[in-house]
Amino acid sequence: MAAPRISLEDCIAVTRDLIAFPTVSRDPNRDLLAYVEALLTRHGIGCDIIWNAEKTKGNLWATIGPAGVPGVILSGHSDVVPVDDQIWASDPFALREADGLLYGRGACDMKGFIGVVLAAVPSLVARDLKVPVHIAISYDEEFGCTGVTSLIDRLAVMPVKPALCIVGEPTSMQVIVGHKGGGMYRVAVTGTSAHSSLAPTAVNAIEYAAEMIGFIRSLAVEHVHHGPHDHAYDISHSTISITSISGGTAMNIIPNRCDFGFDIRALPEVDARAVIERIRSHAASAILPRMRAVAPEADIVVEPIVELIGLSTDVDHPAVTFMKQLVGRNDHAKVAYGTEAGQFSVRAGIVSVVCGPGAIAQAHKPDEFIAVSEMERCRAMIEKLAGILESTGLNW
Ligand SMILES: [Zn+2]
Repeated sequence: MAAPRISLEDCIAVTRDLIAFPTVSRDPNRDLLAYVEALLTRHGIGCDIIWNAEKTKGNLWATIGPAGVPGVILSGHSDVVPVDDQIWASDPFALREADGLLYGRGACDMKGFIGVVLAAVPSLVARDLKVPVHIAISYDEEFGCTGVTSLIDRLAVMPVKPALCIVGEPTSMQVIVGHKGGGMYRVAVTGTSAHSSLAPTAVNAIEYAAEMIGFIRSLAVEHVHHGPHDHAYDISHSTISITSISGGTAMNIIPNRCDFGFDIRALPEVDARAVIERIRSHAASAILPRMRAVAPEADIVVEPIVELIGLSTDVDHPAVTFMKQLVGRNDHAKVAYGTEAGQFSVRAGIVSVVCGPGAIAQAHKPDEFIAVSEMERCRAMIEKLAGILESTGLNW
């Protein structure tokens, strides 16, 4: 008996259910996971949930098909960005369909993709899959991909690793083989204060912070002039930007504290941690000695707030060719935004691509939407994948 088709109506219905859970990153995703667990249970599929310490959020992992065979991961994050200070034409957490578009928070980033994957469960279960499909649903992706880490830790030590991970972020169903990594960092410069007329007796935190900023700027310029460059990216080099600063209390007080933040968007071949080490060693050798000559307690601390792992999948890997066949287009691209694919690839050692319905330009905005036509393209892709996993399996 032929497996049931994946129905587009089901894809939309499940997406509607998922959007109704207001899983803003700061809030729990527990209820959404309970919904997914119940859906899987109805089709005889068990799942593992790896909870955070508070048991409010978790990563869900489920397998359909044979154990012990390298499978294909369909991965999505359950969290969405907030709607605070955004003006929506309708309730962001109630899916609204109009003119072939589905509106709702997370519609394209990325509950539409998860909706298609979950709507495919009955069809996947009905098939005699030679190669399993794994469903991965994470949390805190919008907090710098931090939630998925506990799942990645588990995958990294799996005896039989999945053969491919498809992260369904909105790419308009284009196969994405690379994205930048990097991170966000905070620098705390501690000096000593004094009346501004006694300036030489104090350590001016803002002035030393300015020296640090000048050095970081010089590193950014170095990347522009000396690369590396990868012209598959819109911005071909790594960027380092100062993104926030605060310090000082009054115009006649030498400030004892200045904090600033910076952001690194590094090509996958550039090690952001090595950049950070250069910044720390410059502080230790060129700046701190002069500060401490005045006040031994002076300090400069550089700490990571978020670290992002870049993705660099070999375009000649058979998995990439396989993906192109699945989506029916021959091109691939690299994108500026980060995803969990970097972690699946680098930390878990699983060949990963980013490919999902909807456009990133529609993400994070008021009246976020996904086109029904994009849902259909994703549905067709999953159906084709299921057919191949049933008939021939993977050929690499
Ligand atoms: Zn996303």
